Amino acid sequence: MGSFTQQEPIPEDAIEAAVAVMRHGRLHRYNTASGEIAEATLLEQEFAAFVGAKYCVAVASGGYAMATALRAVGVQAGDNVLSNAFTLAPVPGAIAAVGAKPVYVDVTEDLVIDLEDLAAKLGRAQVLLLSHMRGHMCDMDALMALCDGAGVRVIEDCAHTMGAAWNDVPSGRHGAVGCYSCQTYKHINAGEGGFLVTDDDDIAARAIMLSGSYMLYDRHLAAPPPEAFDQIRYETPNISGRMDNLRAALLRPQLRTLPDQVARWNERYTEIEAGLRNTPGLSVIERTVQERYVGSSIQFLLKDWLRPQIEEVLARCLSRGVELKWFGAADPVGFTSRYDSWRYAPAPAMPKSDAVLAGLIDMRVPLTFSRDDCRLIARIIRETVGTVYQRAT
Ligand SMILES: *Cc1c(COP(=O)(O)O)cnc(C)c1O
Repeated sequence: MGSFTQQEPIPEDAIEAAVAVMRHGRLHRYNTASGEIAEATLLEQEFAAFVGAKYCVAVASGGYAMATALRAVGVQAGDNVLSNAFTLAPVPGAIAAVGAKPVYVDVTEDLVIDLEDLAAKLGRAQVLLLSHMRGHMCDMDALMALCDGAGVRVIEDCAHTMGAAWNDVPSGRHGAVGCYSCQTYKHINAGEGGFLVTDDDDIAARAIMLSGSYMLYDRHLAAPPPEAFDQIRYETPNISGRMDNLRAALLRPQLRTLPDQVARWNERYTEIEAGLRNTPGLSVIERTVQERYVGSSIQFLLKDWLRPQIEEVLARCLSRGVELKWFGAADPVGFTSRYDSWRYAPAPAMPKSDAVLAGLIDMRVPLTFSRDDCRLIARIIRETVGTVYQRAT
C-alpha cells in the first residue's frame, strides 16, 4: 500500500510552464515584459471563471486569504467572529491574525456546522468564517437565509471544497467571500498558495490592496474598475502576501484537469465508503443529494466507544499500514487539533461537539492509491473495527 501523505507528481505541462518562468526570471507578478500578462493574473481570471466569480485575488496561502477576507469585510481587533468548533488551526489562526475572537459553533454528527447553535449565536458577531471542514457542506440555503436575516456576512473556507458545489452553486459562492488553499495537501498543488473570490467591488479592491499591490492594481484583470480603488487605496494597508508567477504557472494546468481529478478522488472515496458501510459499531457520514463533494478524505464515527477501544483500532490498523487520525485524542497530533487546543482564544466547553469529536476518525484519500488499495483499506478497517467491537459487546 502507498503512503497516506504522498501526492501525485506535478504534471509535465505544469513543470514546463514553471521552467519557462524561471528561464525568463520574471517571478514577481508585477514584473512583466511589455505587453505580457503575468501568470498570476491569468490564473486569477481562470479561477474566477472556474467558480463563476467576478473577482479573484491569488495569494500566498489559504490562511492568508481568510485573514485578508476578514480585514476586507471590516473585522476589527476585538470583534467576535463566528466559526466552526470542528475545523483546522489556520481558521482560528486567521481570526487571531486580525486580533478578533472566535465564537465557536457546534458540529453535528454529519460533520457540518449546527444550524440551531448558529441561530442561537448569530447576535454575537457580524461575520461568520464558515469552514467546510473535510469537505462536508451544510444546508447552504438554510445557512445563508439565517445569516442574511441577521445581517451576518459569510466568508467561506473552501480549503477542502475546491471543485465542490452545493445545489449546483460552487463552494465559495454562497457567502460574500470564498477562500481556497493551493498547498500540497489540497486539491491543486503549488506547495503553498491560495485564492480569495468575491462579487463585491469594495471587498475585491481592498483585498487587492491588502495583498500588496502597491499602486499597480490596474495590472489585475479579475478586478473591479479603477473607481473602486479611488478612496480605499489611501486607507488600506499593504500586508504583502501575493502569489508569484512560478506558483501560478504550476497551478494553471492543474486547474484545467481539476474536474477529472475530482472524479478520480470520488471513485476512491466511493470504494472505501462502500467497504465500510454496515460495519457494526461504525457509522459512515451520509452525504446529501445537494452536495457535490470532493472525496479527498473520508471520515467515520465510532459513536460512544470507550477511548482504549478506539486506541486499539488505531494501533491495529496502523500495524497493517492504515493510518487513521482521531479527533478525540487528548492531545492534538498532526492535523487533529480542535477548538479547545487553541488556547490563545477562550473556548467554553462544548459537550455536543465533544461527543461527536470523541468518536471521529479521519483518513486521507490520496490519488496515489489505486482502487484496489482502497478496497483493501476498507477491508482492514472493517475487520479491525469488527474484532474490537465484538469483544466489547
Ligand atoms: C489547509 C487549510 C486551510 C488553509 O491552509 P493554508 O495552509 O494556510 O493554505 C484552511 N482551512 C482548512 C480547514 C485547512 O485544512
